[in-house]
Amino acid sequence: MRVPLGPEFHDECERFAFRFCCEDCAYFLRDERCAHDWPNAEHRRAAYAAEVARREIVFCKEFELR
Ligand code: SF4
Repeated sequence: MRVPLGPEFHDECERFAFRFCCEDCAYFLRDERCAHDWPNAEHRRAAYAAEVARREIVFCKEFELR
């Protein structure tokens, strides 16, 4: 699910400690694959750190907080 991203996102992400990336998901395996075999490059934390000007958040509907 793609959601438009405002300029305040990165500040709020840190302030409220948002957890929405694969690294915080119960289905994220040690070898960095998704247990359900979803392509996960867009859900990884690094994708947000590397793309400061990113314009959308890509939520995974199967995210399960660990
Ligand atoms: S279910 Fe979604 S959020 Fe969880 S590891 Fe797989 S791709 Fe990532």
